[in-house]
Amino acid sequence: MMSTCVALIVAAGRGRRFGEGTPKQYLDIGGRPMLRHALATFAAHVGVNAVRVVIHSDDRELYDIAATGLNLLEPVTGGPTRQESVRLGLESLAGSAYDTVLIHDAARPFVEAGTITRVITALVKSPGALAALPVHDTIKRARAVSDPVTCVASTVERTNLWQAQTPQGFHFSDILAAHRAAAGESLTDDAAVAERAGLLVQLVEGSRENCKITTAADLYRARRRQSEAHAAVRIGSGFDVHAFGSTGTGICLCGIPIPHDRTLVGHSDADVALHALTDALLGAVAAGDIGRFFPDYDPQWRGRESAFFVRHAVSLVHALGGEVMAVDITIFCESPKVGPYRLAMVTRLAEILDIAVERVSLKATTTEGLGFAGRREGIVAHATVTVQISPPVK
Ligand code: MG
Repeated sequence: MMSTCVALIVAAGRGRRFGEGTPKQYLDIGGRPMLRHALATFAAHVGVNAVRVVIHSDDRELYDIAATGLNLLEPVTGGPTRQESVRLGLESLAGSAYDTVLIHDAARPFVEAGTITRVITALVKSPGALAALPVHDTIKRARAVSDPVTCVASTVERTNLWQAQTPQGFHFSDILAAHRAAAGESLTDDAAVAERAGLLVQLVEGSRENCKITTAADLYRARRRQSEAHAAVRIGSGFDVHAFGSTGTGICLCGIPIPHDRTLVGHSDADVALHALTDALLGAVAAGDIGRFFPDYDPQWRGRESAFFVRHAVSLVHALGGEVMAVDITIFCESPKVGPYRLAMVTRLAEILDIAVERVSLKATTTEGLGFAGRREGIVAHATVTVQISPPVK
């Protein structure tokens, strides 16, 4: 059994020193609330099974905007300090059977998938791991006096000094116990809570991009960087097959019902074209596949209209700063004839994707009677999408 990992994003702080009246984690960076950047990165990461956010009780409406379209666990309310917020977040997950937890601050919106991967990988062997950077600057300790001029007391030996970032990851039961034991103390990060409990915590490479937005100048730099960022184009491809079942009255292709004397077998509405399209969209942002988000053993997706899966994938693309540029779908099918429905299908696809119809291409072919599609045993669909995406999402 693969170990399961939950991400706990801490966003309960009040930080209003930016003068905009809104807590900083909800301020706009590149057209999206700061919190949404990290949420999208964790939600898309193939090593993360679930995401929960710890919010302030006043922020539910702001949270709902930041989380729009993402498939997250219900948020929970934090406490007066960061440490207490994390503890409450962990308590809310007690008994949920996650093996590991990644704790991350919403004020680090530019965390990269690679950093998350390094922390998860370290947890295979270590009880704890955190993203960090070695210190290259010389570090001074100032004199603790109330002089108008700040003076150096000493120079700190920088050998072996690292700057802690988040995510910080732990085996779930260990860190929950450590947080319970440290409740009421004031430790500045979760690694310190783990250290206090005697857990070995591994340092893994963080990144300069993964900086904490603390001051108005940090926010200004983050916004400027977003506006200067050059878009990149990603390509995703998806493939799906569904078998014909017994006799029936029709099938669903690209969201359009087509009369036929047989049905397609599947857990949802078996719309093979929309399943391939969903996989292509997820593929373009390296977010795994349709089964990861909508497993066919989960009864809640039974008979579900497949447009729902496509829309979820589009939400994830948008949350990562992406825009769907073009879609090209090929259906391999001997019967029924797809041609008469092509216009309706393209129109429906454009509607589901919320893009212009001229960006949607749909082709159908037979396989000249060869193979299972040729023998009319099922239908094959292949989809390719291009997504334009802005850095820093990599
Ligand atoms: Mg399918």
